[in-house]
Amino acid sequence: MSASNHRLIVISNRLPVRLRAAPRGWRAEKSSGGLATAMNPILRRGGGEWIGWPGESAKIGDPARQQIIDQWKSADGLVSVEIPPETADHFYEGYSNQTLWPLFHHFPSQLTFDPKGWAAYVAANKLFRDAAVSQYREGDLLWVHDYQLMLLPKLLRESLPDAAVGFFLHIPFPSSEVFRVLPEREELLEGVLGADLVAFQTYTHLQHFRSSLRRVLGFESRLNEVEIGGRTVKLDALPIGIAPQAFTAFLGKTETQRHIESLRQRYQGRKLLLAVDRMDYTKGIPERLRAYRRLLERAPDLRAKVVLLQVAVPSREGISSYATLRRQVNELVGEINGQFATPDWTPVVYIRRGISRAELVALYAVADVAWVTPLRDGMNLVAKEYVACTKDRDGVLILSEFAGAAEEMGEALIVNPYDENRAGAAIQTALALPEAERHRRMAALEEGVVRNNVFAWSEQFLAMLESAAANRGDAPSDRPAALDVARLLAAYQSASRHLLFLDYDGSLVGFHNRPEDASPPPELLAVLKSLAACPNNSVMLLSGRKRTDLDRWFGDVRGLWMGAEHGALLRRADSPDWEPLRPGYSRDWVDRVRPVLQHFVDRTRGSFIEEKEYSLVWHYRMSESKFGDWLAQELVAMLEDMLAETELRAIRGRKIVEVRPGWLHKGSVARRMVELCGPADFQLALGDDRTDEDLFAALDASAWTVHVGAGRSRARFAVPGPAEVLPILERLSDLSRAS
Ligand code: UDP
Repeated sequence: MSASNHRLIVISNRLPVRLRAAPRGWRAEKSSGGLATAMNPILRRGGGEWIGWPGESAKIGDPARQQIIDQWKSADGLVSVEIPPETADHFYEGYSNQTLWPLFHHFPSQLTFDPKGWAAYVAANKLFRDAAVSQYREGDLLWVHDYQLMLLPKLLRESLPDAAVGFFLHIPFPSSEVFRVLPEREELLEGVLGADLVAFQTYTHLQHFRSSLRRVLGFESRLNEVEIGGRTVKLDALPIGIAPQAFTAFLGKTETQRHIESLRQRYQGRKLLLAVDRMDYTKGIPERLRAYRRLLERAPDLRAKVVLLQVAVPSREGISSYATLRRQVNELVGEINGQFATPDWTPVVYIRRGISRAELVALYAVADVAWVTPLRDGMNLVAKEYVACTKDRDGVLILSEFAGAAEEMGEALIVNPYDENRAGAAIQTALALPEAERHRRMAALEEGVVRNNVFAWSEQFLAMLESAAANRGDAPSDRPAALDVARLLAAYQSASRHLLFLDYDGSLVGFHNRPEDASPPPELLAVLKSLAACPNNSVMLLSGRKRTDLDRWFGDVRGLWMGAEHGALLRRADSPDWEPLRPGYSRDWVDRVRPVLQHFVDRTRGSFIEEKEYSLVWHYRMSESKFGDWLAQELVAMLEDMLAETELRAIRGRKIVEVRPGWLHKGSVARRMVELCGPADFQLALGDDRTDEDLFAALDASAWTVHVGAGRSRARFAVPGPAEVLPILERLSDLSRAS
C-alpha cells in the first residue's frame, strides 16, 4: 500500500527549522536530522504540512519573527504552534525533559516533579491539537512524534474521531516498574492509545508498553494490537534508520577530504577511538572515560598508541543535572590527560561543541573504532552513521546493549556500558580483530543500515497507519445493544434448526464464593431439559468447569451437549463419555506453574487454587477486591513473561486468573459443535466473561450473541444479568413445545 494518496501532517515538538534571535533580526536554523530528511520528500510530494514549535517563545508578537513564521507557512507548509514562554518552559524543560526523559531512560534518580510541569504539558498538547485540527482535511494522515506529545493522539481522536492518527516514540519505553512511578501514568497511556497505530523503536520497548497497559490500566493486549473503546489500536516495533546518502555524499566533498587528510596526519601511527554524543547523562560519557582510564592503567602498551576523541554536543544547558554532568566530564578528561599525557600524546581529545557535517563524516571515515555506549538510548543514530561512512568497510563498532540499535546490529561488539572493565577490554578486542573479520562485520552492518533506512521506515509506518485506520472499526463494538427479546423469539420461531451455546457461571446462575456452591436451581434444570429434548434443538452447556461438576449437575439432562473446561472436553448428547479436543495432551507444565500461583495464595487471604485437567485457576473472589484485582494484574504480567515461549496463556476472568493452553478456548469447541450438528438457521450464544468473547467471535455475524452483564463485549446484544436469562430460556422452551 502506498501512502502517496493521502496528505501527511507531521506533528512534532520542534519544526525542522528553528528560529534564533540574532544580534540583528532573526536567523532560521535548519535541522539536518534524519526525521526532517525523511519527511521532506513525502511532504513535498503530497503537499503535506509539518506542525511544531518554532522556538524563541519569549519574542512572540515581534513583527519580524511573525513574518518569518508566515512565510514558512505559505512557502514550506511549516505550521508554527505558538506556546507562551511560561508554558513552553514547564512543558519542555520541565515535564518533558526533567520528568519523562529521565524516567523513560531509567534514571529515576534524575527525576524532578515540577509542580507546574504537568499542567503545562496538558496545555501545550492542547495547543498542538488546536493547530492540527485547524489544518486537518478529510483523509489526511496525522503522524505524532515522541514523548512531548503523548496526550495528543487522544485529544485528536476526540476532536477528529475518524482521522488516521499514528504515534511513534523515538525514546525507549521504560519497564512498567519504572513507568508506574509517574503520577500521570494513566493519562499518558490513554493519551497514546488515541492513535490507530503506536510504534516503538524495538520489541523490548513494545513489550514494556504492553506490560504497563496491563499493570496500570488492566488492559490485555496482543503482541500487535490492543482494543479500547471499540477500536483496535495496532502496536508495532519499527526501528528508525538514517538517510545514508545524506552522509556518504559528504565523503566526496573537498572540505571533508581536507578534514580527513589532516586527521590522518595528526593521528598517524595511532588508533583513533571515536565517541560522538549529545552531552546527556543517558549517553554514558563518564562511564566511557572511566573505562578508558582503566584500560590505559591495565594495558600500558596501549599508551600513546590510542586516542579517544570525544565529541560532546551541548544540550539542555538550562537544566542543572546537565551542568553537573558537564563538570564531571571536564574533570575526568582533565584527570586522564593529567595522568597519562606525554609531550606528544594527548589521550583524550575533547570537543565540547557541535561540529559540521563535513567534520563529522571525516571523523567517521577515519576512526578505527566507534565507541557508542549509551546507558540507555531509544535507537542511537551515531552507530548507524558511522557504519554508513566507514571507508572501505574498515572499522569496528562497539555498541551498548542498552541502545535500541543493538537489537538490529548484532555484528557490532556488544557491551554493557556499566561494566567498565569489559567495556575497556572490548577496545582491545576491537583493535585485535583481523582485517577480514572487520570487513565481514562491517559489510553486514552496512547492508542493514542501507536497507533499513529512514525512507523505508517512514513508508512502512505510513502504510501500517493507513491499514490500521482502515480497519479501526473491526474491534468489538463498545457496548452491545440491549437485547430485544421479542425479536429474538420471532427469529427462533421462524427458524427450523436451533443451535444454543450456554455459558454457566455468571450467565445462567450468579456467582458464589466457592465454585462448588453454584449448583443449578430446579427451574433451570427444568428449562434445560425441555430445550434439549426438542428435536430441532442442539443445546450445549459450555463452561469453564470440570467435567465432574457438569456430570454431577447435568449428567441426566437428556439430549444436552456439554463442553467442560472451556471445551477441552466434549460430551455429546446422550453419551456418558467425554472426548478430549486434543488427545494426548501433556500436563507437565502444571508443576512449574503451581508454585507461582501458590505464592499468590499465600499473599492473599481467602484465595485458592483450583486444579483442572487442562488448566490451573487462581480464585480470589473472597479477597479484598481492589487488592485482589491489583495482584491479578501482577500475576498475569509475571506469568506472561514466564510463559512467553510456551503455548500457555494466563487469562483474567471474573475474579480469577486461569493458566491454560492458548489453543483451548470456547471458539474452538463452538466450531467443532457446528461441524458435528450441521447447519442451524438460528444460533444463540450467551456468556458473561472473557472466555465467552472467543465464542462470540467464532460464530457467524448473524448469530444472536448475548453478553450477560454490564460492560464491553463483542456480542451484538446484552442483558443486565443472569436473572433475565432464565425467563428468556423459558419462553424459548414454550415456543419449542408449541411447535
Ligand atoms: N550530530 C550533530 N552535531 C554534532 C554531532 C552529531 O547534529 O556536532 C548528530 C549526529 O549526526 C546524530 C545526532 O546528532 O544524527 C545524534 O543522534 P543520536 O540518535 O545518536 O542521539 P540523540 O541526540 O538523538 O539522543
